[in-house]
Formats: sequence, C-alpha cells, structure tokens
Amino acid sequence: MRKQIAAANWKMNLTYGAAEALLNDILKEQVALAPDQKVIFAVPFPYLIMAKSGVEEEQGYSIAAQNCYSKSSGAYTGEVSAEMLQSIGIKYCVIGHSERREYFGESAEMLAEKVDLCLQHEIEPVFCCGEALNIREEGAQNNYVQTQLEASLFHLTEDQMLKVIIAYEPIWAIGTGKTASSVQAQEMHAHIRSVFAAKYGDEVANNISILYGGSVKGSNAAELFSKPDVDGGLVGGASLVATDFVEIIKALKR
Ligand code: PEP
Repeated sequence: MRKQIAAANWKMNLTYGAAEALLNDILKEQVALAPDQKVIFAVPFPYLIMAKSGVEEEQGYSIAAQNCYSKSSGAYTGEVSAEMLQSIGIKYCVIGHSERREYFGESAEMLAEKVDLCLQHEIEPVFCCGEALNIREEGAQNNYVQTQLEASLFHLTEDQMLKVIIAYEPIWAIGTGKTASSVQAQEMHAHIRSVFAAKYGDEVANNISILYGGSVKGSNAAELFSKPDVDGGLVGGASLVATDFVEIIKALKR
C-alpha cells in the first residue's frame, strides 16, 4: 500500500536536550495517523536510540538515520554501517541527500551500494533525487532525475524497489525558502512514477511513495500534498519547529 509520509530531516541541528524537547513537543500533540500514513524523524546518529524509545512504531511513528556507509564493516573510522543501524532497530535511512552528494562527493555507484546494504539489513532507504537550478533552467530536469534513479536503483528487483521511498528534492528549493509550485512538484512526481512504471510496471510504480522536499512549511504543505502523485514531504527547516511540523503531519492526504 502506498504510504503518505511526513519525514523530518533534522540534519546537523539540535543538542541532545533540544532534540528530546522537540520530539516530545511534536509527539504530545498525539496526531492519530491512518493506516496508510507515516511520520519519520531522521535524527543525528547520537540521538537515534533516545528518539526510537520515544516513538510508538505501531502508531505509525518511526525513526530514520540520515546516512549510512557504503561498506558493510571494517576499517572506516567515523562511519556507521547499515548493520549497526539494524542492530538498534532502525527501519529507515535517508540515502543520497543532495548535501551528501555535494559536500561528501557521494557518487551514484556509492549510493547504489548504500541502498543494497540498507535492504540487506531490512532498512527502507529514503532515496533522494533532484536537480540544481541550472538544470531546471535548461529544462533538463526530467532526464537528470531519471538518470539519478536509473544509476542507483534500477538494479533492484521489484520486491526490493517496493521497499524504497523516493524523495524528490529540487536543490534550488532546499533551505532557500523557494518552494517548487504544487504544479511543478506534481509534474516531476508523475514523471518519476512513469519512469518506475516503464521499468517495473504500473503496480510497482503505483505503490512507491514519492515525497516532495524543498522548503515545505505548515503553510504550503496541504497544497503540495493535495496533488495526486505527491505522497507527503521530506522536511528540513520546518521540521525543527514543533507547531510547523505538526501542521505538516496534519496536511497528509487521507
Ligand atoms: C531537506 O533538507 O531535505 C529539505 C527539504 O530542507 P528544507 O525543508 O529546509 O528545504
């Protein structure tokens, strides 16, 4: 079943106490989720266990890591493996965020390895894709995003693909306050779904959740999520403000 998902990406923000307080402020609102709705908090590594102990997975609330390494284990000082995440009960991991591609040089091949390791360890990747401003200005965004998906995901089987969540995040809209219009988001999400349909068939494509990310706020979430192929959002800045994120959760389609 295709899920409607509000995913928070806290990035490298918040001290332990502030993270705990933010999570509590959001959870105390007790927003009840329908069976096809989910809320996921992607928190910094040191807070994973604390955050996990705070959420009720049965109620649809889960915790994600923001990254994992592309090797299974060994001499990779400072890195965290998918197996380690599995061992503390983490079920989701953001993979290929544009900040990781840009600042840490993560290649499409590396992301494919990360996706494989997540799936081997029963972790659902939240796979990010999206174009920079110059690519959109050239009108080449559809091909660009298609290439990103082909390069890191098209080796997966149908069953594996159904465990991947896609986040379309145009780089020009991340943290800039410039949101893609709901029409632009819908156009790209429909394109992404058609790319999966061509490779895996309609049934798989219709069951993949495709989230929009890029300056989603309480005030624009309902309009974005109202579009048929927009299955929720991956939210940075606004996920650090409890009232804003609660509004975003409430804006999920039912
Ligand atoms: C993000 O980092 O995934 C993101 C979408 O950030 P923001 O909501 O701040 O644009």
